[in-house]
Amino acid sequence: MLDCARVLVLYAGGTIGMKASGRGYVPSPGYLAEQLARLPQFHDASLPVQQDDGRPVFVTPPSREGRRVSLTVKEYEPLLDSSNMGMEDWARIAEDVGRHDAEFDAFVVLHGTDTMAYSASALSFMLENLSKTVILTGSQIPLTTARTDALDNLLGALTIAGHFEIPEVCLYFCHKLLRGNRAQKQDASGFDAFWSGNFPPLVEVGIDIKAKWDLILQPTGEPLHVQTKMNPNVAALRLFPGITAETLANFLRPPLEGVVLETYGSGNAPDRRRDLLDALRAATDRGVVIVNCTQCHKGTVSATYAAGIALAEAGVIGGADLTPEAALTKLSYLLAKGLSPTDIRSQMQLNLRGELTAGQGARYSFRER
Ligand code: ASP
Repeated sequence: MLDCARVLVLYAGGTIGMKASGRGYVPSPGYLAEQLARLPQFHDASLPVQQDDGRPVFVTPPSREGRRVSLTVKEYEPLLDSSNMGMEDWARIAEDVGRHDAEFDAFVVLHGTDTMAYSASALSFMLENLSKTVILTGSQIPLTTARTDALDNLLGALTIAGHFEIPEVCLYFCHKLLRGNRAQKQDASGFDAFWSGNFPPLVEVGIDIKAKWDLILQPTGEPLHVQTKMNPNVAALRLFPGITAETLANFLRPPLEGVVLETYGSGNAPDRRRDLLDALRAATDRGVVIVNCTQCHKGTVSATYAAGIALAEAGVIGGADLTPEAALTKLSYLLAKGLSPTDIRSQMQLNLRGELTAGQGARYSFRER
């Protein structure tokens, strides 16, 4: 009797299952499952397609390790281009993981690439005490187009989900499994669409599948808790030379409660612009939590320059090496808990789900920890 891992595939939308139409690629209900049934990598044709509560269940052929993966496909209605997704869609995915946690070994979320890094970050916070593998994936070309990257991405994600236990929200693309809250979309047209500038991949897939167990988070051992509530009063502002104080003050107006301020280099903003610093100070005094993240895709915010220190003096907190996607979703998650601005500011600087590298002081010897 062959070993079989049970994976729930939550199909939220995205190019992976889209069909070509007169208005470009569009999502098409039922289409993805029809195609999976025909592809021998995803369904062993010698077995019938089972139904689970009206959802198709496919069983892959055995892997090199002798393990099959059974995939139950739960298709969302409506299927969305991820540009149309919002916080309620994250809540729906999180709820589904919570509802089916006991029945399945792992979860794969099929999702558009455009906002996948936001969803992966949000889910990493919303799924508290996660003990199962959750992998978001998608593709740049639909599954049914000849030169598609969907086969590789979906097969890779399913293989990892069915063979490894990685209790994190991850993002799989182009042979790499990234920590979800470290990932960013880096390429609108290439197949290697995601990267994680401040953290190495958790798993790399070649002839062999290599997991870096020393990087993978340990489960807490506590029961899974799903926080579906997120606070929508958050926003990101990318600083640019010549921004006016009026623009900044208008942006910071209520109901805004949390801001990701995307600054230059290692966390710098103009320290000769009293008007901007005053607008920031007025907002932080009102309780708005403002987090300093760099516009660079790699590296960290630090207190190297006077231009960065002036922000701290205005009450802006350092976001270390958080991606803006992770910072925004973490703010939204913490604000929804109803914590005080002081508590949120301190939790924003703690490493909750591997999203930031805390305490990046200088180290001079292998002996130091
Ligand atoms: N616009 C699509 C989406 O994000 C792109 C993709 O799936 O790759 O849904």
